[in-house]
Amino acid sequence: MEVAIGHCSRCSIASFPTQYPQASAMLCPSKFLVSEVKGSCATMKMDMAGAAPSGFNKRKKKLSVKCEAAAASNQIGVNQMLVYVPPHPLIKHWVSVLRNEFSPPPIFKSAMAELGRLLIYEASRDWLETIGGEVQTPCGVANVEFIDPREPVKVVPILRAGLVLVEHVSSVLPATQTYHLGFVRNEVTLQPTLYLNKLPDRFPDSSLILVADPMLATGGTIVAAIEELTSRGADVKNLRVVAAVAAPPALKILSEKFPGLRVYTGTIDPGLNEKGYIVPGLGDAGDRSFGT
Ligand code: URA
Repeated sequence: MEVAIGHCSRCSIASFPTQYPQASAMLCPSKFLVSEVKGSCATMKMDMAGAAPSGFNKRKKKLSVKCEAAAASNQIGVNQMLVYVPPHPLIKHWVSVLRNEFSPPPIFKSAMAELGRLLIYEASRDWLETIGGEVQTPCGVANVEFIDPREPVKVVPILRAGLVLVEHVSSVLPATQTYHLGFVRNEVTLQPTLYLNKLPDRFPDSSLILVADPMLATGGTIVAAIEELTSRGADVKNLRVVAAVAAPPALKILSEKFPGLRVYTGTIDPGLNEKGYIVPGLGDAGDRSFGT
């Protein structure tokens, strides 16, 4: 069965046509906002049995004013989650390299790290505090702003593949501290188990926390990770998630559990297969990064 994915006029999230009301409801819980800003949106056709997408039809579409305003000012309602897909050709490029099953591990890994760099750049755009001052240039005195180094961004990669997504974080963010979280997903139940926790007992108030989980599929792992963070004093409104690919089940549960959260993702895919893998996705991000 071939299904064309369109865009919801209300929030611009990809949605199935009305003849698939169940899927549409799953993809478009009005509690979360997706921003792609105006430009070309992809209409993806894919085989519901899980085969590779049969093609992309590009069409120009001006997205709703509400979504553009959200992207520009990053204002979201208290009950909303923002999902931002930066409309950048380099992001599309690295996602495409990741999707290609013939990209070998070194290429896959560097594409994931590059994608992470761009997503972290986008996520930090309206987030980091600066401190003003003056510096002497060779030609005069300039008013300047530096990132405040006193409160490093807390970076939380979810092992294994999250490590790769934040590989270049220090080239984007001048001050960071990294706390590792390791989850393994049970292949049968799809439930995550925590096997490594390097989080501090308590995060300082107002800590900015960047969580990296490349594949937001069922949402089990990212929800468990955020619960670990909030139980240590993290405030959801100061949390940002970066992901390579996000799927509707994860976005839905995140939006229900953590209003105020912001998710920056390379792309949003239509769904999951019976093993909980994102379709079309890119396969197992950990195995493909590390050649296992
Ligand atoms: N984890 C992955 O690595 N890939 C998926 O598609 C889902 C979860």
